[in-house]
Amino acid sequence: MVEINLKFPDGNVKSFQEGVTTKDVAESISISLAKKAVAGKLDGEFVGLTDQLLHDGAIEIVTKDSQEGLIVLWHTAAQVLASALHELYPDMKFGLGDVTEHGFYLDTDRQAGQIAEADFEKVTAKMQEIIKQKAEIKRVKMAKEDALKAVAGDKYQEELINDMDQAEVVLYQQGDFYNVYEGVTLLSAGDLKVFKLLSVAGAYWKGASSNPMLQRIYGTAFFKQKDLDAELVRQQEARERDHRVIGNNLDLFFVDPKVGAGLPYWMPNGATIRRVIERYIIDKEVAWGFQHVYTPVLANLDLYKTSGHWDHYREDMFPPMDMGDGEMLELRPMNCPSHIQIYKHHKRSYRDLPLRIAELGMMHRYEKSGALTGLSRVREMTLNDGHDFVSTEHIEDEIKTVVQLMTEVYNDFNITDFRFRLSLRDPKNTEKYFDDDEMWEKSQAKLKAAMDDLGLEYFEAEGEAAFYGPKIDVQTKTALGGEETLSTIQLDFLLPERFDLTYVGADGEEHRPVMVHRGIVSTMERFTAYLTEMYKGAFPTWLAPHQVSIIPVKNELHLDYVNQLRSELSAHGIRVTVDDRNEKMGYKIRQAQVNKIPYTLVIGDGEMKDGLVSVRRYGQDETTQMTKDEFKKLIFEDIETYSRQ
Ligand code: ATP
Ligand code: ZN
Repeated sequence: MVEINLKFPDGNVKSFQEGVTTKDVAESISISLAKKAVAGKLDGEFVGLTDQLLHDGAIEIVTKDSQEGLIVLWHTAAQVLASALHELYPDMKFGLGDVTEHGFYLDTDRQAGQIAEADFEKVTAKMQEIIKQKAEIKRVKMAKEDALKAVAGDKYQEELINDMDQAEVVLYQQGDFYNVYEGVTLLSAGDLKVFKLLSVAGAYWKGASSNPMLQRIYGTAFFKQKDLDAELVRQQEARERDHRVIGNNLDLFFVDPKVGAGLPYWMPNGATIRRVIERYIIDKEVAWGFQHVYTPVLANLDLYKTSGHWDHYREDMFPPMDMGDGEMLELRPMNCPSHIQIYKHHKRSYRDLPLRIAELGMMHRYEKSGALTGLSRVREMTLNDGHDFVSTEHIEDEIKTVVQLMTEVYNDFNITDFRFRLSLRDPKNTEKYFDDDEMWEKSQAKLKAAMDDLGLEYFEAEGEAAFYGPKIDVQTKTALGGEETLSTIQLDFLLPERFDLTYVGADGEEHRPVMVHRGIVSTMERFTAYLTEMYKGAFPTWLAPHQVSIIPVKNELHLDYVNQLRSELSAHGIRVTVDDRNEKMGYKIRQAQVNKIPYTLVIGDGEMKDGLVSVRRYGQDETTQMTKDEFKKLIFEDIETYSRQ
């Protein structure tokens, strides 16, 4: 009898007979654990409750009350959905399904008519029927040609099976319906109790835009109704925060795929926010010793061949423009080579270092169409970019300086919810990166040392480095629950080498500088998207597109006074609108609230007679009377201190 050794999370190791099931293992610990168990994990891989365990390893029992328990439930729901769809629409074809951070999805295709949200009631009813029958969800192993027969007529399923190398493949089976699906489910549809189908969206087969567009159905499921209710509230809040929704309501920007996917147009309101950010960050950086420059978005392709972008970053770049006279021009995907030209334009000495060059640099990246999202992932973007040229001894100091600058900026914008990611090279896929192991070891160790020195907490992520070096990325949450990089600090020994950068040291000899690439507030696009979501569109006064709305009680009596007040405030750079439409007062006040304007001033006889203003802050019900000067003082202080409402 062959035995296997299983190590439990508390460190205990127990022997079992080879072929023992996950369920037996759970039962061997306690009946109550077995009751809660929904699956297991052997060496980190999910295993089903009735799966046989065939080798030694670290075992974990996955229970209902854990996040991983939910993953098993979500896979189950995706399978029950597939089976229901198959019963309702036998001609439907199936792509893949998977879990997301908050639920599951399943890709479908139906020539006779794609699934729509209007069909959800019918599909949900069918799923409930299957659940009531406690239909069994089986995993079956079969020879490849039998598997192909089982899914015959579904070209996606056939392709998935043909893609597999092994002679035997595993399919899910529910009644006469078979499909290829990764992920472990519960054994019976009856275990699925609370679920909801949420939305549909287009998704390319295998994620490639050259492939057909499938219809992706999103849903979620929970063990308890109250958890589903909480999730639905969370999703509603996320929708309200979504910068694309707010961007539309507040008329900040638009993207029109007919004019160009991922190429945003900034409307006056969005452009105002962007201009304020741009002025703010330039002033801040200049104060911190950065020299701002302007450089062209186009350059000879050779520049990107020298930098290595052409070799390592080509799939993210727009194709070069052949100018017909032998010259190839390229839209830059990054600003580093441009700033290197600024460095090289003069002979540099150790006295010039650290040389900090910065720019709001426009760049173009051919992002996959499926990844494009409002302003947060676009194809034309302007990065708050900077490159610090330093001597090797000053690397850590420079990184600390950049982290301090970042901290100050985050403070002004009130950004508190973020974490540091140390982005390293993927050791298993090194061809994506510049090939010099020693350089990678050195620069990764330097970044770690700087972070440890600063006492900053961080997590490591392999495969997230730039092709030229490792990074410290600042990860923030988006409204939709994803995580994205806002700030980034990158260490680079490579480009100085490639462009043969030098400086004359105190010893009179030539030395090689090191580059620190850094972006503090990211691209104007992503940062504006981020702030819109963070503030839910209620921008603090210094950023708000319209800071003050003045409403005359009666145009014929009060408009002159109102216009004069507007001029006085505008002269100080305050962004003022006057609402002199022939509408009711209550309506105009409500409109100012809908547009999230920080201050609404109402001017009637009383105010005019005594040189007063009646002030109402965004989100508040009460109105306060004060003198014009008191109001100016209030709003100036509000703006200067970047205070939040
Ligand atoms: P990602 O991993 O998000 O694609 P990256 O690591 O390629 O970004 P960098 O070259 O470091 O990005 O670019 C600097 C910053 O520009 C990123 O940290 C991110 O905040 C922002 N950014 C990158 N790509 C886009 C994009 N397509 N749209 C908007 N902003 C972007
Ligand atoms: Zn760079």
